[in-house]
Amino acid sequence: TKWVYTFGDGQAEGSAADRNLLGGKGANLAEMCNLGLPVPPGLTITTDACVWYYDNGRKMPDGLEAAVTDALVNVGKIAGRAFGDPEKPLLLSVRSGARASMPGMMDTVLNLGLNDETVLAVARDSGDERFAFDSYRRFIQMYADVVMGLDHEVFEEILEDEKARLGHELDTDVSADEWRVIIARYMATIEEELGIPFPQDPHQQLWGAIGAVFASWMNARAITYRQLHDIPASWGTAVNVQAMVFGNLGDQSATGVAFTRNPSTGAKELYGEFLVNAQGEDVVAGIRTPQSITEAARIEAGSDRPSLEKLMPGAFAEFLAICDRLENHYRDMQDLEFTIQAGKLWMLQTRSGKRTAKAALKIAVDMAGEGLISREEAVMRIDPASLDQLLHPTIDPHAARDIIGSGLPASPGAATGEIVFTSEEAVEAAKAGRKVILVRVETSPEDIHGMHAAEGILTSRGGMTSHAAVVARGMGTPCVSGAGGLRIDARNGTLVSLGATLKAGDVITLDGSTGQVLKGAVAMLQPELSGDFGLIMEWADATRRMKVRTNAETPADARAARSFGAEGIGLCRTEHMFFDGDRITAMREMILAGSEGGRRTALAKLLPMQRSDFIELFEIMKGLPVTIRLLDPPLHEFLPKTEEEIAEVAGVIGVSVEKLSQRVDELHEFNPMLGHRGCRLAVSYPEIAEMQARAIFEAAVEAAKSTGAPVVPEIMVPLVGLREELDFVKARIDAVAREVIGEAGVDIAYLVGTMIELPRAAIRAHAIAEVAEFFSFGTNDLTQTTFGISRDDASSFLMTYQQKGIIEQDPFVTLDIDGVGELVRIASDKGRATRPDIKLGICGEHGGDPASVRFCEQIGLDYVSCSPFRVPIARLAAAQAAI
Ligand code: PEP
Ligand code: MG
Repeated sequence: TKWVYTFGDGQAEGSAADRNLLGGKGANLAEMCNLGLPVPPGLTITTDACVWYYDNGRKMPDGLEAAVTDALVNVGKIAGRAFGDPEKPLLLSVRSGARASMPGMMDTVLNLGLNDETVLAVARDSGDERFAFDSYRRFIQMYADVVMGLDHEVFEEILEDEKARLGHELDTDVSADEWRVIIARYMATIEEELGIPFPQDPHQQLWGAIGAVFASWMNARAITYRQLHDIPASWGTAVNVQAMVFGNLGDQSATGVAFTRNPSTGAKELYGEFLVNAQGEDVVAGIRTPQSITEAARIEAGSDRPSLEKLMPGAFAEFLAICDRLENHYRDMQDLEFTIQAGKLWMLQTRSGKRTAKAALKIAVDMAGEGLISREEAVMRIDPASLDQLLHPTIDPHAARDIIGSGLPASPGAATGEIVFTSEEAVEAAKAGRKVILVRVETSPEDIHGMHAAEGILTSRGGMTSHAAVVARGMGTPCVSGAGGLRIDARNGTLVSLGATLKAGDVITLDGSTGQVLKGAVAMLQPELSGDFGLIMEWADATRRMKVRTNAETPADARAARSFGAEGIGLCRTEHMFFDGDRITAMREMILAGSEGGRRTALAKLLPMQRSDFIELFEIMKGLPVTIRLLDPPLHEFLPKTEEEIAEVAGVIGVSVEKLSQRVDELHEFNPMLGHRGCRLAVSYPEIAEMQARAIFEAAVEAAKSTGAPVVPEIMVPLVGLREELDFVKARIDAVAREVIGEAGVDIAYLVGTMIELPRAAIRAHAIAEVAEFFSFGTNDLTQTTFGISRDDASSFLMTYQQKGIIEQDPFVTLDIDGVGELVRIASDKGRATRPDIKLGICGEHGGDPASVRFCEQIGLDYVSCSPFRVPIARLAAAQAAI
């Protein structure tokens, strides 16, 4: 097996096509090398080696060591040095690089190969002692943290202590001799804390670092990140071992990161930050606040610190040309890392840049306009789930703003919430249903849970490429970073800004689009769905085959869904209409009535209310299809539960507490979701279905008159397992239809269909289709009944299943294609065999999940139906599935 691929000096064994094997970073380093760009020579250990390592009890594969040693000889030749050589030592960077980028989640070691001897050679060689010892102390800090497991804070404490003693403000003020003293303290601390000395042997260092990178694939934050981004644990990571180039070699050296377009807005402008005399981690960690790369950005930021363009014009010009070249080569916005060593530019990474949803739309539309990509490619470029970000509100420009601070506009959108200072508090508060803003000096990958729980994120340190900024943009959570004027005291729970002192629990608002921090809650505006968004949706609509409907029962939801482009209602859950005010009382009277007559009396009160609901829905949908489902949940859901509630309700409807308690007891079921619900209610109490059918038909007559458009209601019977159940209910619906047609003197077209929510229904679909004119797959219940797991209780153990790798995705979120999906496929085929023009749709939560939508396209469903805010997601996902 070939475990190692080399690159350097204008040629590489791999290329961008080898992403799965070499990881994103390794594949792109190879590609840049092949393009003749300046890339420090190195080697990539394949992801296969990592997989082998985990399959074999965390052992390195045979032959790996020899291959690495060979490759390093070659790297040394190109670099004019040798690894472990005391005179001309080759120093290395060791960095992880998985197939999918996982920024900051795994480990990196820089300056590897330094020890008490080689550091002197580096000092001699470079003629810069300060640089040599600065590199050495960086290496010790990183290696001890990443490989030896010693918390980096102990080193920061020592460094802060020494700097204070010496009266230095910046790390760059520390002299070589002062670094020696600090390094001696570092070494002593390592021995003290760990009982072993810092390794001096470069080979031991190297294999320690490679092992640490492999091991970091399974660290807690990497596992969490993979779960959040659906990255399989089985992929493993590659390891890139590369000759070091030094951004900390004095004032003509620098390191930075850049995007070829603005990752926040999508504007076509080079966007990036750098630090003079620094190494890469200084930029990402947000320890020093970086400077703008271009003059234009510097001026816009109002900064008096010079841009790279001014400071190192030669290297800047070369970098600009490379940016253009890479963007054209990859035909996408790139995210780059570079280092300038004594005036010479080196490229350390390129990859497709992460961007906000807004930027993604603008870049896709612009690139289509520039002829760089086609419209279909533009549609494919947008992650459907990310559209959610655009549906977030922004601050009303006319609202009064009580500004208490400002920072960088790190992730757009506005958010209001109570201040919390730790991720744990954020998680707890969110569980309790409170909206919070996570306020931190800076964030680290350990904060990922808190960042997820928060409505918004505020940090006082770090740039646009800091951890907080990158992660927040990825999640679509508004974020203001680097608000340097804020004084955050997490221990005492205070935030001091512009003289005001805020405490944990106080409400603030973040404007992630301007970087402002505002006191209190501020009026917001709903999102604008035109512009680039509208254009991409137009292109998507032109390509998709499936229709997209919405699950809605309230007029507000139905209107929102229409504005998001819904083409009808795929599921109106009528039970939701029975909870308001008087309705619930009438409903309870119906449930408590001892006879059919009593029930009919109570139902007569509900009829006009249902009718007016349906009229409104039909009017909003103006002739688009509307699927209305008959009552589904078990009746006990409408009854009071606690003793106090029972007493109160008994008073309102005028029955005795005993009678009500008795009925509550009678309706109690051990497994209500498998109990007296769905069409079983209609079989027991046909008068309920009859009332609902009458309300639907009368509303159809009314709405056809008021809108001038014909309404063709689709009446849907839930939880059918037997064809005979549907026969029974359909007969009642048809009878009511005849009555209403007779009374109104107009004809009413309508469809009667069923949900497919039980395995039996799927298997008997050919028989059911003799009666049903449409099927709607209720994949929430179908998942529940196929797996035999409760949709209400499963999340606790499904999480464990995911953590233990038994399932990759929650089947209630993404359709289990192999099992539940197979039933959907069988039912579709059987349904069509009986009734070729049968209408097929899906209305479970999966209807708004892009991966599930793709499956629906494959098996040829006619439409998907999802909650209003997911309608744009489904439209785009349906288009992508059709391309
Ligand atoms: C379903 O079961 O998938 C469905 C849409 O119905 P409900 O979620 O109301 O049970
Ligand atoms: Mg259901």
